[in-house]
Amino acid sequence: MPSHYERLRNLIGTYSDIDRAGQVLDWDQQTYMPPGGAIERAEQVSTLNRLAHEHLVSDEMGEAIEAALHETANADRDTDEHRVVRHMSRFYTKRRRIPAEWIGEWTRITSLAQNAWEKARPASDFAAFLPHLEKIIDYRRQYSEFFAPYDHVYDPQLDYFEPGMKTAEVRAVFAELRPAQVELVQAIADRGRPVDDAPLHQAFDIQKQWDFGVDVVTQFGYDFTRGRQDRSAHPFTTFFGLGDVRITTRFLGDYIGSGLFSTMHESGHAMYGQGVSPSLARTENIHGASYAFHESQSRMWENLVGRSRPFWKAFYPKLQKTFFAQLGSVDLETFYRAINKVERSLIRVEADEATYNLHIMLRFELELDLMEKRLEARDLPEAWNRKVKDYLGLTPKNDREGVLQDIHWSAGYVGYFPTYSLGNLISVQLWEQIRKDLPDLERQIEGARFADLLAWLREKIHRHGAKYEPVELLRRITGQGLQAAPYLEYLRTKYGEIYGL
Ligand code: ZN
Repeated sequence: MPSHYERLRNLIGTYSDIDRAGQVLDWDQQTYMPPGGAIERAEQVSTLNRLAHEHLVSDEMGEAIEAALHETANADRDTDEHRVVRHMSRFYTKRRRIPAEWIGEWTRITSLAQNAWEKARPASDFAAFLPHLEKIIDYRRQYSEFFAPYDHVYDPQLDYFEPGMKTAEVRAVFAELRPAQVELVQAIADRGRPVDDAPLHQAFDIQKQWDFGVDVVTQFGYDFTRGRQDRSAHPFTTFFGLGDVRITTRFLGDYIGSGLFSTMHESGHAMYGQGVSPSLARTENIHGASYAFHESQSRMWENLVGRSRPFWKAFYPKLQKTFFAQLGSVDLETFYRAINKVERSLIRVEADEATYNLHIMLRFELELDLMEKRLEARDLPEAWNRKVKDYLGLTPKNDREGVLQDIHWSAGYVGYFPTYSLGNLISVQLWEQIRKDLPDLERQIEGARFADLLAWLREKIHRHGAKYEPVELLRRITGQGLQAAPYLEYLRTKYGEIYGL
């Protein structure tokens, strides 16, 4: 007789199989699907998501969870058995509040909305996207009501990506970050020592950019026998299983930063997925502790490693050789300053570390207003532009570089943006611990040696998948909860040196 735990794992496995099949369709939609496939593809992913959901919230699943909870009640708290059952129990309880028809309709709406956004963004045509956005906001409000009563109408949105996190906590952290970051950015502007990033804005052959990026992330430890890279409008990582974690990236022919850093960023997500313990295959654990934890990994490789001086001591000679005409006469220090230039700008994904969180905060505030019904979708462009003026002192020329720039709302991801900033904070809290545990980390990076760093991340974070909730995992590793101070200290030190503050 199989144990109750084994029976539950089989049921979870079936859910995971259907869900991953939907992921394959979604990946295909964003990479290779011809435009004509959009309408039928929306039906296909809708059907698969509905089937997965029905299986997930079935009575059979509920009974299996109940039996496995009893069976594993006395198991060691750190075992897979104990954790997988409890993780699934929380997941089941939450998802069971959502009707299957709602899921099917929701998936169809977002699939079509993404398609509409892909056309509306380059045309800067907010009016064409508005009917889709109105539906999405309406459905997100409905979603919150499935979880009533709540402390804040935004809590269920946040909890979907960041289990256990409350709107009030995010507000408190942002309230600490905002004045400090605004002050830092102002001090940099007042210092009057602008950094010249012209060397990054030249013609760079895209195939050479691709090859350089692949070489870097291979040396990081991204395993191409269990992954691959393709191009897409918006870079992302997909988890089909522990043996197939794919990344996409985006290159610009006239700016080297975009492809370079998005490749490193996505490899950080992918190595997290590749590092989950094989014992957790075919569970929801392969997605990691949370979105913020995922961002802590991607932002760590992109920024703490990829925008650091030690990293470029190792890799700049090769980059110069690859692009000799463009960078042959640009010295390392000039290049290092260029990739760390601080500038108030309009586009989040191109923002530097000092201004990045400001982009997130303004989105978070708009999402709160939308959920609290203090703002309607049709008034978003105006509200967006006001916030951008307020936070960054700039005015978008059009909606393409304003409210239409991000894919998230078209995909229905309300509550996602804060995880980027939380990920930034976590990345630095982890980094401080890593530097204690690996005292010669900088020298290792200067020598293009990343094995110890990756092994540390695997041991402390990756292998656990979603066994621990994010704040619990952070406490296990650092002894502390989420904190803004280490990140602010990191920014002040790094940019203080670059700008001579
Ligand atoms: Zn990311």
